[in-house]
Amino acid sequence: MADFDFDAVVVGAGAVGLACGYALSRRGLSVAVLEAGPLIGEGVSARNSEVIHGGLYYPTGSLKAKLCVQGRRALYAFCDAHKVAYDRCGKLVVATDEAGVERLEAIYAQARTNDVEGVARLTRAEAQAMEPELFCLAALHSPQSGVFDSHGYMLALQGEIEAAGGAVVLSTPFEGAGPLEAGGFSVRAGGAEPVGLTCRLLVTAPGLSAQAVAATIEGFPKASIPAAHFGKGVYFRLSGRAPFSRLIYPPPIPGALGTHYRRDLGGQAVFGPDLQYVDAPDYSVDPARAAEFYRYIRKFWPDLPDGALQPDYAGVRPKLHGPGEPQPDFRIDGPQAHGLDGLVALFGIESPGLTSSLAIGEEVAGRLGV
Ligand SMILES: Cc1cc2nc3c(=O)[nH]c(=O)nc-3n(C[C@H](O)[C@H](O)[C@H](O)COP(=O)(O)OP(=O)(O)OC[C@H]3O[C@@H](n4cnc5c(N)ncnc54)[C@H](O)[C@@H]3O)c2cc1C
Repeated sequence: MADFDFDAVVVGAGAVGLACGYALSRRGLSVAVLEAGPLIGEGVSARNSEVIHGGLYYPTGSLKAKLCVQGRRALYAFCDAHKVAYDRCGKLVVATDEAGVERLEAIYAQARTNDVEGVARLTRAEAQAMEPELFCLAALHSPQSGVFDSHGYMLALQGEIEAAGGAVVLSTPFEGAGPLEAGGFSVRAGGAEPVGLTCRLLVTAPGLSAQAVAATIEGFPKASIPAAHFGKGVYFRLSGRAPFSRLIYPPPIPGALGTHYRRDLGGQAVFGPDLQYVDAPDYSVDPARAAEFYRYIRKFWPDLPDGALQPDYAGVRPKLHGPGEPQPDFRIDGPQAHGLDGLVALFGIESPGLTSSLAIGEEVAGRLGV
């Protein structure tokens, strides 16, 4: 006999799990979000760029293209309604060589297809009038891109779930589930006081543990669990005045959006993340990586002084592709993918997962038919 029964159980209290819990709570369902750690939002959601992406790059017809644009619109509205801080500072995608200029054209065309508002091509002079310290041959301006307080956002989501009568249960790892004969699932949760739960709907959003969690669900076909890859990225902070007010992004690198510039909400300039595949999550920052950062940043900011970059933090992307392989879409796997009614399993929710989170929540609710 289970200790507790909920309409829906969500595994993981990062931005995406909380947004799923929010979407389900808003539909009047009783929701429990189980979080293994002692705090919400301490996984991938705590170690990223906090950029609200416009949605320029993602391939036509992909979940990323759809959910980034929808999620970004919903996120600004949510931040306004919940007094979560953001700066819709805009972004310049900059070309610093002729090959880059050609790539800007392709990004511009994709942004228009993706229905991203207000993206404009800029000449070198127009871009430099906006950001006088910038070097580029040409640029795109994305006025809808910004930065925000992702932790304030997650706290607001938790508040909404709890206000609707749901529970965000900390230090309570999901240890497995099995389908019930009458429909729904029995769930085993561990921690200091292990409990059993039952639920009609189950959503797994455990970030870097997505594959491990899916493997603990009875009846989940092993063949439909994608391989896990970990894409580490490090950041360096600038000591000194922030040189630009907008986000500055060179065109994407293979497998990621690549090292970019942002001025965070505290006014500090941060550069990163690069991409390095690792066997297991590891958050160290090797100061020796600074050399490559200086070389890369000086392409668009030639005046970067020697000695100005300080090692900052690292994040790890839950990737579904290895080095050199094409970057796949988000995986939002419903019964069609794994055969278990009432279950949605998320895999590979890397960038732009934070921006897309509210739209992912809506998509998950839709796939569960609620
Ligand atoms: C370097 C980097 C930069 C990025 N920059 C951006 C950006 O600027 N903009 C953007 O939109 N996106 C960005 N992203 C992507 C974004 O951060 C992620 O897509 C998003 O945070 C993923 O959220 P999540 O809730 O899926 O995962 P997480 O935040 O990792 O949450 C998963 C949670 O599940 C918990 N968990 C794991 N196993 C269990 C279990 N068995 N039981 C219970 N709980 C469990 C974990 O403790 C964790 O709290 C970036 C990612 C990285 C790595």
